[in-house]
Amino acid sequence: MGDVKELILKINEARPLNEEESGLIEKAFGFSHIAHQGQKRKSGEPFFNHAYQTALQLAEWRLDASAVAAGLLHDVPEDTKFAIDDVKKEFGEEIAFLVDGVTKLGHLKYRGKEEAQAENLRKMILALSKDLRVVLIKLADRLHNMKTLFALPPLKQKRISLETSEIYAPLAYRLGMQNLAGQLEDLAFPYLYPDKYQWLVKNVKERYEEKEKYLEDVKKIIEPALKESNIAPIKIDSRVKRYSSLYKKLLRYDMNLEQIYDLVALRIVAKNTEECYAILGIIHQLWPPLPGKIKDYIAMPKPNGYRSIHTTVFCLNNKPTEFQIRTPEMHDEAENGIAAYWAYAEAKTGKQYREKKAVFADKKELAWVNQLKEWQSGIADSAEFLQSLKIDFLKDRIFAVTPKGGVIDLPSGSTPVDFAYAIHTEIGNQCIGAKVNDKISPLDYRLQSGDLVEILTQKSKKPSASWLDFVKTNIAKKAVKGAMKENPLLKKHPLRTEFRITAEDRVGILKDVSAAISRSHINIISVNVPPATHFPVIKIRCELNNKEKTERLVLKLKEIKGVKEINYKLI
Ligand code: MN
Repeated sequence: MGDVKELILKINEARPLNEEESGLIEKAFGFSHIAHQGQKRKSGEPFFNHAYQTALQLAEWRLDASAVAAGLLHDVPEDTKFAIDDVKKEFGEEIAFLVDGVTKLGHLKYRGKEEAQAENLRKMILALSKDLRVVLIKLADRLHNMKTLFALPPLKQKRISLETSEIYAPLAYRLGMQNLAGQLEDLAFPYLYPDKYQWLVKNVKERYEEKEKYLEDVKKIIEPALKESNIAPIKIDSRVKRYSSLYKKLLRYDMNLEQIYDLVALRIVAKNTEECYAILGIIHQLWPPLPGKIKDYIAMPKPNGYRSIHTTVFCLNNKPTEFQIRTPEMHDEAENGIAAYWAYAEAKTGKQYREKKAVFADKKELAWVNQLKEWQSGIADSAEFLQSLKIDFLKDRIFAVTPKGGVIDLPSGSTPVDFAYAIHTEIGNQCIGAKVNDKISPLDYRLQSGDLVEILTQKSKKPSASWLDFVKTNIAKKAVKGAMKENPLLKKHPLRTEFRITAEDRVGILKDVSAAISRSHINIISVNVPPATHFPVIKIRCELNNKEKTERLVLKLKEIKGVKEINYKLI
């Protein structure tokens, strides 16, 4: 059922509670308990348990007493006879604000209705910029709902899981809460892909066990080596890759488990940054590193703030093995992200900090919150908003660097043109070329994380229509389209054909399709495979405006194994 002492203990671990705060938790506990009396959840457990688990999670993230109290009360206005005004009367403005914020975020109605979904996201972002705690309460609520999802009917399970994996998990990831993001993904995975989940459980379990045993042997070598250099790590343990992220990675490696080197990684937590690098050196003295696999996220953190050093070495018996090295602070931030920052800042300055509600939106590492806020107010159409949010903010990210060392955070697949528009609209408009790592590169070059990008510009240059074929961010698309509208002459570009090929999800299909097009001596302008729920649809644009030639190509494409359907249009 839950115990108020446990809650108080948990918050106390982060920061001693004063009497007033302990009293607050006890009062909220009692109030919620009475308000939810007699209510049961679908799983059969008392409803209050849900409120309690939500609050407990917030305490584990080391949020303050007000947030934990609001967690206890978060379903009161919606699901009990008490209204938000009752909460305000009993608990005051701050807690009522938090509870109301969570209630207003609402239970997302994810019925494929993009509008409702977009509306909810808008609310989420606004809440995020007003007071981060509202979103953290919502995330804690969702985590517990996912843990008890088994009790719901299958259709609902799927819908909620889809929403969790498309919205909440990426949101958690963007807040730097890797542990939460991973948990949400893993909880959703069996409902979304039951067969694949079974396959993984069957094929991976033994390997995990085997690998963990192997890492025990590795530990026996590394420990004395560190000792010899007078380094006493705080902890060395193995980290098992989550099923959901393993699955994503397997898709990129032909489902070949042999290719996954970080199935189980060894994680070393060291006293400070100097020791992290010293440990990296010692590991590389013991075993040679795999080229290209050393990632220094301490010198260059990921856009979501993640810091750590990763390296993969030819380890014992020549097996490639990943090591992750970090300090306790980095470890905490990696697991709990923004919640960790919050706890630190709050512990340092107390109430004062909380009163500066918008403080998170000012933080450099969360610049994207502001970007989002500004941006969503400029997009009227819900579907468009949702699409851009999914594409620009919640997908895999890369970060490229300006000549002055600024980090530009972009969706993966972005090009120098996207980079230019991310800096400034004018720089985008006037862009004529780019130097990537000091080498002139084409404007449709796919940027990689860590690329140093310098944009070459020419005054009074106008954007070109052909950019629309390769730019990735909506910010760039919008700017180019805007310029076209102002100056229709820019539109002149030769006719092209876009093929939409529906095909089986078979390895190598893309290669076969593009080979067939190349054999017909037709230039491919762009290839795009949007993430699909069922059969993937391959979108290919070609330099082609000849009907006969097009139809000949269609016949050839139809012969390819796995191709189901082909549509095309002139663009
Ligand atoms: Mn709830």
